Amino acid sequence: MQALFPGSFNPFTIGHKNIVDRAVKMFDKVVVAVGVNSSKEPSTTSAQERVNHIKAIYAENPKVEVISYTSLTAQVVKDMGIECILRGIRNDVDLEYENEITRANYTIFGVETLYMLADPQFKEVSSTLARELKKYNVSIPESATSKELPKQ
Ligand code: ADP
Repeated sequence: MQALFPGSFNPFTIGHKNIVDRAVKMFDKVVVAVGVNSSKEPSTTSAQERVNHIKAIYAENPKVEVISYTSLTAQVVKDMGIECILRGIRNDVDLEYENEITRANYTIFGVETLYMLADPQFKEVSSTLARELKKYNVSIPESATSKELPKQ
């Protein structure tokens, strides 16, 4: 069984990595899909740079594939013949937000979504916070600048 883990990954954080690392133990393949979403805040890194960054992290793991996409997530899932979407949930706000999209993907496209709860030690880690701190040259250990992750 395969899962598509979609997101902006702007940047890819240790919270995202934790979800992928746990998911590869359960799925035959995890496709990390970097969405190019024009309605989101303009990114300081291109989708290709983010793809390359995530690919470098998983260079040794053939079960992780990294792609970028511009279409609807559910369409990518169907086109690639993947069984489900995977999303990480940190708190009630994430859950509320995801539920709406999950219901739409299920009712309109028949696409299933599985949720994985954030590891408590990473539940405060967010790309938004990492971006904000980067603006002021402040690095946080759990962000994409963590020593576990190559620098972006
Ligand atoms: P999006 O723009 O689609 O919300 P993100 O890159 O912010 O994409 O996040 C991708 C997925 O990872 C989402 O399901 C999000 O809830 C989840 N996620 C983000 N940060 C964490 C974290 N610290 N722990 C677990 N899941 C997370």
